[in-house]
Amino acid sequence: MAKQKKALPAPEPEGLDLIVRGGRVVTPEGIAEADLGVANGKIVRVASVIDDHASEILEAGGCYVFPGILDAHVHFNEPGRTEWEGLAHGSLALAAGGGTCFFDMPLNSEPPVIDAASLRAKRTLAEQKSCTDFALWGGLVPGNLDRLAGLRDAGAVGLKAFMCNSGVDSFQNIDAHSLREGMKRAAKLGLIVAVHAEDDALAARYTAEQKAKGRFNVRAYLASRPVEVELAAIRQALELAGETGCALHVVHVSSPEGLDLIAEAKAQRVDVSAETCPHYLLLNDKEVVKLGAVAKCAPVIRDERSRVALWSELRAGNIQTVGSDHSPAPPEMKTSKNFFAIWGGIAGVQHGFPLLINECLETLERDLPLFAAVLARNVARRFRLDEHKGLLAAGFDADFSLLRVSDQKHKITADELWTQHRISAYVGRQTRVRFTHTYVRGRPIWADGRIAPTAQKGKFIQPQR
Ligand SMILES: [Zn+2]
Repeated sequence: MAKQKKALPAPEPEGLDLIVRGGRVVTPEGIAEADLGVANGKIVRVASVIDDHASEILEAGGCYVFPGILDAHVHFNEPGRTEWEGLAHGSLALAAGGGTCFFDMPLNSEPPVIDAASLRAKRTLAEQKSCTDFALWGGLVPGNLDRLAGLRDAGAVGLKAFMCNSGVDSFQNIDAHSLREGMKRAAKLGLIVAVHAEDDALAARYTAEQKAKGRFNVRAYLASRPVEVELAAIRQALELAGETGCALHVVHVSSPEGLDLIAEAKAQRVDVSAETCPHYLLLNDKEVVKLGAVAKCAPVIRDERSRVALWSELRAGNIQTVGSDHSPAPPEMKTSKNFFAIWGGIAGVQHGFPLLINECLETLERDLPLFAAVLARNVARRFRLDEHKGLLAAGFDADFSLLRVSDQKHKITADELWTQHRISAYVGRQTRVRFTHTYVRGRPIWADGRIAPTAQKGKFIQPQR
């Protein structure tokens, strides 16, 4: 007897995978009440009402639908120093704070990412472990000029260089000559160069002065890195960018004076952008003295006048991107009577961004579009990911979060941290802003304050060439 042919199942009606319904959608241009329609991980429609069939409806009434944050500055330390953080913990904490994509820095992982092979090794690990999408920085160090083309071909989002001691021996800081040569090469390769801008000789001299006076406390550390340490390095980097035509990104600018130098160079057509970090906008030097090791970073957090001025610079458009510079370390490296010996770096990937928004509650609807620019759109544009990342519009990846402002203040506790070590500069702070849901390419990563059970893993994102 001939086997009967099984009837084919009826084709599924053409529909959406997801509708995000009834939220207030934030873009750099403004805020609009709209629904998002998502199919195959992409936003396919933004309209005032979408009532098609969809497999999932996410009710967003009472929330802002915020573009997924692209954090262009994290140190997740994997491979090699996984016990400091790691890609799984780091990406989860990022997602809990509204982030959908991180750019991992080339140092603190071991081996450092200074050639194509080390970039590929980190990429493989992140594809297995990260719940958010990711891009990878390559390193520009003395002696790796001939490996920069390999880094580009392997998909590096840019090159990072240290103008002062990086703290790790495997990632050497760069002298002016190597930086010039590196920038020439990077310009040819179409790679942006990011610099940690602090002058090594000045920092070393002021540090030695403090130590010679027998001063080793937090105040001595702050005094060892006055603003001129940062300004001298920014000036030099700007000069070299102008001379070589290389695109320059100055990371973690801590001072309005530094931003002014960058704005002047930009006006003279130097291709430069500036990043600052939440901690420079949220904390001042007096709070650093109180907080101690959790608030140690370089460049140092400056006085209240500078903090307030940084907000003015942000609103004036002189800061193009805000990145967390999440840089954790095990607790035992954060305790020493000698403040200089404590590992520097602020862990803040989970709460830094929502806390920034919390600072603006009185002007929220005016400021949210600005945050959509500096946390998403500008980052995607500067690093050439803007064909598909950084904007809530049709054709873009469905990377977004739901942001809720509650009437009640919530006090941040160590228990709620998803980072490997429950250390953060922001424990104890009060906030009314939280991200309740985070979706990457249309799939939930973080939902109702919990990790969403999902098989989706992060995707390696490469710049458009
Ligand atoms: Zn950093």
